[in-house]
Amino acid sequence: MKAVEVQVRGCYINGEWIVPNNERLIEVKNPGDGSLLAFVPRGDKEEIDLAVKGAKKAFHSTEWKTFSPYNRGKLLYQAAEIIRGNKEELARLETLDVGKPLTQSAVDVEVAARYFEYYAGIADKILGETIPVEPGIIDYTVREPIGIVGHIIPWNYPLQIAARSISISIATGNAAVLKPAEDTPLTTLKLVELMEPLGLPKGILNVVTGYGYEAGAALSGHPDINHITFTGSVETGKRVMESAAQNIVPVTLELGGKSPNIVFADCYEKEALKWVLKSIVQNAGQTCSAGSRLVIEKSIKENFIRKLAAAMEELSIGPGMENHDLGPVLSKKQFERIQSFLYLAKQDGIRIVTGGERKLLEGYELGYYLQATILDNVPAGHYLAQEEIFGPVLTVTTFQTEEEAIEIANGTPYGLVAGVWTENGGRAHRVASQLQCGQVFINHYGAGGGIAQPFGGYKKSGFGREKGLEALRNYTQVKNVALKY
Ligand code: NAD
Repeated sequence: MKAVEVQVRGCYINGEWIVPNNERLIEVKNPGDGSLLAFVPRGDKEEIDLAVKGAKKAFHSTEWKTFSPYNRGKLLYQAAEIIRGNKEELARLETLDVGKPLTQSAVDVEVAARYFEYYAGIADKILGETIPVEPGIIDYTVREPIGIVGHIIPWNYPLQIAARSISISIATGNAAVLKPAEDTPLTTLKLVELMEPLGLPKGILNVVTGYGYEAGAALSGHPDINHITFTGSVETGKRVMESAAQNIVPVTLELGGKSPNIVFADCYEKEALKWVLKSIVQNAGQTCSAGSRLVIEKSIKENFIRKLAAAMEELSIGPGMENHDLGPVLSKKQFERIQSFLYLAKQDGIRIVTGGERKLLEGYELGYYLQATILDNVPAGHYLAQEEIFGPVLTVTTFQTEEEAIEIANGTPYGLVAGVWTENGGRAHRVASQLQCGQVFINHYGAGGGIAQPFGGYKKSGFGREKGLEALRNYTQVKNVALKY
């Protein structure tokens, strides 16, 4: 493959690095300065078919069937060690590829290692049940692997999500085919390369790089896939679900969000300010569970957003490799998408408290840096308060009663995460119980975080849960056995 800053060996299929014959390649750019980072193969139907067939053969092989749960776990523990042993390289690569500040990539590397440890520990604890049907019958259940799992990975947290996908697929005894996002495939390829010496049977783990409409569509529509996990946009999620329907295959969809931080007047203000800020600027707001709506009690709003704006203006903006507070957004395309939302805000007379402009940096003119932005008094039903902007842009909507706060929080098509800020314990739980979302943080907020906590959405944020023990349901199927004696 052509020599560039990051050398890629090809797609990883059946234990080999393959460069498609036609040499069709995709350019991978550095969001920090727009420079060319790497070329990866533009895999399509052919490579996906090769990978899925290889995975199928490996899954049914005696070698994999006799690879004990204990040994699967041991291998995953070793993978965690390897990840930690290569943490600087992985963090550097993630920052070059995604643009996020180095400290955030370092967190992603640690989270990746912890996924491997978490699911390593579970590999030999996937238990069945005995069921007291009637005397003379022994009835039990076995949780068997589901088969060949297709993982379609988004561009915003590629290392974390690739690690989550590989670790659980292997822990549960499946074979995996990963399709990383075309914009950010580098750490997924690196991870697989680092795992190569661990001795997984050939074909159990595969990565095919390529565009969504080619490789992604071929993977989600492949008749030999038994389960699909997808993280990304609602529109693509619908397409993935449609192809899965053709093959009667279950899917886990982790789609976007418009997650609220609900701040009551009796909150501990200092903490609320810290996390409201962090949850919208982390990874330049390109996080599915970003706290992108501030839903705040009217009496404290002015004071709160004045302090929040001051904190935003203090943030340093610059390349992730220089570890600024706020890195670039992924690409020109993403930047233009965010800009169209900001244009709409200006058109509709929405007050921009701070930010709203691109920051041009000398020497990094092809990097798309955006100031952290607050849009004030956005009506709850306004497009800006309803749609995922996927940038460091926070909308502010006020409420006067608890009921109103809940209604606003629930009033979008999404339901991924919510933050509740109050020192009143009764209220905190009362509100949590009425929120239509998959995860509630009370007096803290974990955008993108958490390994042991089930994660996924209500409504258009998707269905099925990743992370924690809950995710095991997606990767196993139950067999019931009844014996008469
Ligand atoms: P996308 O949903 O198109 O891409 C996500 C993944 O799906 C990528 O790997 C892509 O190659 C693949 N894909 C694309 N088309 C496909 C198809 N037809 N069949 C199978 N796979 C396909 O997202 P995007 O275009 O990169 O970003 C658009 C918007 O999506 C963002 O602005 C953001 O709002 C949202 N998004 C959300 C998340 C999240 O974490 N929930 C992640 C990425 C993007």
